[in-house]
Amino acid sequence: MTSVATRIDLLRTRPDGLPGAGAGRSTCSSELATNPWDFAPAVSAGYGPGASQDDAVPAGAPAQPAIPEEYKHASAEELAARITAAKRELGERVVVLGHFYQRDEIVAHADFLGDSFQLARAARSKPEAEAIVFCGVHFMAETADILSGEHQSVILPNLAAGCSMADMADEDSVEEAWEQLMDVLGETDDDGRQTVVPVTYMNSSAALKAFCGRHGGIVCTSSNAATVLEWAFERGRRVLFFPDQHLGRNTAKAMGIPLERMPMWNPRQDLGGNTAQDLEDAQVILWHGFCSVHRRFTTAQIEQARAEHPGVRVIVHPECPMPVVDAADESGSTDHIRKAVEAAAPGTTFAIGTEINMVNRLAAEHPEHTIFCLDPVICPCSTMYRIHPGYLAWVLEELVAGRVVNQVSVDAATARDAQVALERMLAALPR
Ligand code: SF4
Repeated sequence: MTSVATRIDLLRTRPDGLPGAGAGRSTCSSELATNPWDFAPAVSAGYGPGASQDDAVPAGAPAQPAIPEEYKHASAEELAARITAAKRELGERVVVLGHFYQRDEIVAHADFLGDSFQLARAARSKPEAEAIVFCGVHFMAETADILSGEHQSVILPNLAAGCSMADMADEDSVEEAWEQLMDVLGETDDDGRQTVVPVTYMNSSAALKAFCGRHGGIVCTSSNAATVLEWAFERGRRVLFFPDQHLGRNTAKAMGIPLERMPMWNPRQDLGGNTAQDLEDAQVILWHGFCSVHRRFTTAQIEQARAEHPGVRVIVHPECPMPVVDAADESGSTDHIRKAVEAAAPGTTFAIGTEINMVNRLAAEHPEHTIFCLDPVICPCSTMYRIHPGYLAWVLEELVAGRVVNQVSVDAATARDAQVALERMLAALPR
């Protein structure tokens, strides 16, 4: 299978002649070949390269300051050696966390590899580390800061590593939606239950987790979304689910909730584009958000995989659109996908619908299987890809010098309320 590095090299050398290139979502942007520090000045205009290329960056998103030139010009080997040396010098004082979707040059230095929730827990298991370097995106670093000790600093190597899905639900829009919902539905039913329980996906800002904490709501992950929805329905009549419409729809549908009871909330329209009756009848109100990476997967890709690999097992992430999840053999979180591959009989062929770095790594770790990405275009999550080894070397060497740079910290009031929603989530984990 083509590696991400090969694809990026192709983008560098043949920006207009890529194999399989086409319009819109069928190709990566050639801008993905731009180094993250060269790309940074354009951040305010949009997320730019790769799978998030069409998504707007919200005003006020953190910007990454320039890093010293030496980190930009060092070879891959030099950066790897400097990262290793800095980690050795820091010893137990630092822990490096790497998300499954990070590039291999970063994962090679991670003390823990996992999804956002596993990594937040890993941070908690290392109270002796003064610094937690989170190689992932902004909302993950925020969650780690909330769940870690007060003596610990959480560092995001490149502050421009946001998540376009998380940014699709901002605090003001959700507050506005809530006000409108309360106007139409009231706060409680005649029996005293909440009319609406807010549920936010882990992939959201700390401010939205805090919103859920304040309003009797909860956080969910892609592993426990069904358990969390059950928790919410025990307490309220309906759910407002944000930011990912697909995870909300796929989960609710699997629980037997009809699609007509799941209206979409478009934050740009009054009542989200619904009538008051739509909202009265709703069981799950879905925020108009999505992951640009998982939206790339299509039923046509599944048909092609089945035609070319009879007997293929198709597993997709529940952030994929509903028709894709329906056409797959199964769907589940990154952890579910990893475990399914590990448990399969040797010789299984897998077509996987999730981020390419993870799929390629699974393929390398499991030569006993045939594993490929459903999307033939090798297109990584562009914001995850901003964690370049140059940034990791920089933050670690600054730590060696006694300086904490790129710290992500959540204010005390927000952290307190967000922790309420996170603790509810922990209690609602599947048995
Ligand atoms: S893969 Fe999707 S949800 Fe995950 S960080 Fe990238 S844009 Fe956000």
